[in-house]
Amino acid sequence: MNNHNYNTGFLNYCQICYSKDLLEVINLGYQPLADDLIKVSEFNRECIYYPIKINLCKKCQYLQNNYIVGDKILYNKNYHYRPGISSSVVNNLKALASEVIRNYDLKPEDLVIDIGSSDGTLLSQFKNDISAVLLIDTYNEHGMAEQRCLFMELMSEDCQIPVIIGKAYGGLTPENLQLYSATDMGALLIDGLGDGVFLAAEGCGSLEQVNQTAFGILQASRTRISKTEYISCPSCGRTLFDLQETTALVRNRTSHLKGIKIGIMGCIVNGPGEMADADYGYVGTGVEKISLYRGQNVVQANLPMEEAVDALIDLMKEDGVWVEAQELDAVY
Ligand code: SF4
Ligand SMILES: [Zn+2]
Repeated sequence: MNNHNYNTGFLNYCQICYSKDLLEVINLGYQPLADDLIKVSEFNRECIYYPIKINLCKKCQYLQNNYIVGDKILYNKNYHYRPGISSSVVNNLKALASEVIRNYDLKPEDLVIDIGSSDGTLLSQFKNDISAVLLIDTYNEHGMAEQRCLFMELMSEDCQIPVIIGKAYGGLTPENLQLYSATDMGALLIDGLGDGVFLAAEGCGSLEQVNQTAFGILQASRTRISKTEYISCPSCGRTLFDLQETTALVRNRTSHLKGIKIGIMGCIVNGPGEMADADYGYVGTGVEKISLYRGQNVVQANLPMEEAVDALIDLMKEDGVWVEAQELDAVY
């Protein structure tokens, strides 16, 4: 739901069941929007007052304000209501969290989602409960900075619950979605901030492309390894074979090996150093000649290129890390 269902102004019927049988129970007169306090330096700014009259619907028992403030006015860019600044609200949310944990007998594998969580006060009450997950979203133009700031606040509150970094994108090419989302979220993840990502991407390619982008960000930031990692050099005059074609060949046979890092390097001069943390290396040593590495050690030197991929697979089989792609299909 993008927009508020009701128009701005007074309502003389119940928002839930439309009954007109309403009973006025509280009338606080006219009040500014929540926490819209005027600073001393803003003496020229006028505060707008709205009526707060609470009615009880006698039919469905719903308590409600009888005046609708427009969503653009209420959720403006300076929206500053924070549940966490009022101790009575915090205590109320604390009691709610205890009740939810007790009533639903929450287990570590359960998930707690607080939709529209504002400053996360309710979720922070679950902070010692490992079933809670916090999803942080931003509409700020400088969203990454805002989310980084929120992480600092959560850390200063010693909040231990996992955090999913969320952001919405619209109308981008799949390549630009990769670029923007990896910049926004990757910058936080590589600093160890965040445990997952949530990409709300409309008109940015197929669902599969969006999904691959999300997993790619997690993989590149080493937050979650879900596929084979390839470390490849950009290639230069020293490369004595077609690096792109060879990378595609190796990838074609090994891309199902979750968690394995394979270096594919153009030459022996700089290749071994550049793939320093790879598990296996496939390194050019002459015209169409390849040397295979296990970690930093050469295990087979100067193999003809056409034999090298099979030899790499044999090496993995020897190490007990090789799995046939069909076997994985059967498991997942
Ligand atoms: S590893 Fe060798 S071939 Fe590849 S870019 Fe570096 S120097 Fe060039
Ligand atoms: Zn009602």
